[in-house]
Amino acid sequence: MILISACLLGKKCRFDGRGLEGPPAFHDWVEKGLALAICPEELGGLSIPRLPAELVGGDGKAVLLGRAKVLRSDGIDLTAAFLKGANEALRLALASGAKTAILKAHSPSCGCRSIYDGSFEGVVVSGMGVTAALFAASGIAVFDEENREEIALAMRQKNES
Ligand code: SF4
Repeated sequence: MILISACLLGKKCRFDGRGLEGPPAFHDWVEKGLALAICPEELGGLSIPRLPAELVGGDGKAVLLGRAKVLRSDGIDLTAAFLKGANEALRLALASGAKTAILKAHSPSCGCRSIYDGSFEGVVVSGMGVTAALFAASGIAVFDEENREEIALAMRQKNES
């Protein structure tokens, strides 16, 4: 089983109420029962649409250690909701036996390699989102939709299984 960020499957769960279109293969995997769509921020109880949020003081690993926060653009602290969503997503991952997750790049929850820097100025820095960090710490391989080689490998393995 592969977990995929729900917004990459067109679900309108992003903060701005929009969805995105990932590769058509993602939809095929879900239809065949090989992949599961998850939205950690929805699992954390956040509304759609919602104001944007960014990590402040560190990345998702630092949030898990209590050393950084998730703040909404108006300053409201959403750390607890993001942690709840990450833990719910991990529960689903473990229940489904998922070993791999393909997650939305740059998201404060789903970003695997880079996130916004907390300035709300569109500046991207290295780091992981909260859910991606929890997945990685739990032994789940995390990629974003821009990791084309890793996704191609996962596709080949799924097609051969
Ligand atoms: Fe939900 Fe992750 Fe997509 Fe954000 S990036 S809308 S948390 S699935």
